[in-house]
Amino acid sequence: MLDRAARGLFLSELIAGLSLTLRYMFRRKVTINYPYEKGPLSPRFRGEHALRRYPNGEERCIACKLCEAICPAQAISIEAEPREDGSRRTTRYDIDMTKCIYCGFCEEACPVDAIVEGPNYEFATETHAELLYDKAKLLANGDRWEDELAERLTADAPYR
Ligand code: SF4
Ligand code: SF4
Repeated sequence: MLDRAARGLFLSELIAGLSLTLRYMFRRKVTINYPYEKGPLSPRFRGEHALRRYPNGEERCIACKLCEAICPAQAISIEAEPREDGSRRTTRYDIDMTKCIYCGFCEEACPVDAIVEGPNYEFATETHAELLYDKAKLLANGDRWEDELAERLTADAPYR
């Protein structure tokens, strides 16, 4: 009883708490002020998908459908037809991002580094429909992120 009364009288618990706060104020911060500050990302981070092009603008995807076959979530749907020049290209390339589990198998399976998972993790939407990506959306992602995507693939190349 006396001990509790003394602690209450001298505000020792309050002072201990405040001194702890004061000590942490001068330590290195472990939190960041997101979204104004962002933490480092591994080159292997698996974010939003993108379809890449070659530097001449030609799409890389050759419609082999390996990504569609390996996808454990069956999130990828591809349709393909030969072009007039005989090359094979997709006429439809959809990813249901709400089914995707971001395993990265599609990227691993692709023989031409066409489908990749990029560094973008800020693609939350308000509706389900916005997460049903089509070929145009995926190619637009590739165009937007190409510099970062190429950098990440180069950084990871020695380990693949
Ligand atoms: S990351 Fe995995 S689940 Fe998502 S589309 Fe690729 S293979 Fe399918
Ligand atoms: S993205 Fe790659 S694995 Fe998928 S169909 Fe195109 S070339 Fe084949």
